[in-house]
Amino acid sequence: MTCLECNKELSYLDHRNAMDSLGVELCAKHQERMERLVEKNNTPMEAIQLYYGLKEAGVQAMLEWWDGKKSVDIAISRVKLNIEIDVEYHMLTHEQAMNDLEEAMHSFKNGFTTIRIPHILIRHYLKETVHNILGIMEGLKANIKAI
Ligand SMILES: [Zn+2]
Repeated sequence: MTCLECNKELSYLDHRNAMDSLGVELCAKHQERMERLVEKNNTPMEAIQLYYGLKEAGVQAMLEWWDGKKSVDIAISRVKLNIEIDVEYHMLTHEQAMNDLEEAMHSFKNGFTTIRIPHILIRHYLKETVHNILGIMEGLKANIKAI
């Protein structure tokens, strides 16, 4: 068990604390840093899990990226892809749905594609989710080249 950021060896306690708090293996220092980010942005735990899942697959993503209007859960700037984690999509009201649509519109205008992923998918099918995002990135890369 090592820290996903600095590869430091984790003690049993460090490991348990990080898994309980964030669901990923981080040393005390990096856990604290991540918890501050979560507190500030209300970041869902699954965004952090996906971020490290992507990192493991060699994808450099950004957590809580400020796009000028709002903080995006995860952004992959190389292919202009924004990923938002839906935490309570089963309670989506029409106002929220319209808000999402408008945010998607603004992203598209800036050349960004936004996809929304239900948090349960990341929690239970992280590997498959990462695999599909890699496929989306391939498609976006091809489109960027085409232009
Ligand atoms: Zn660390």
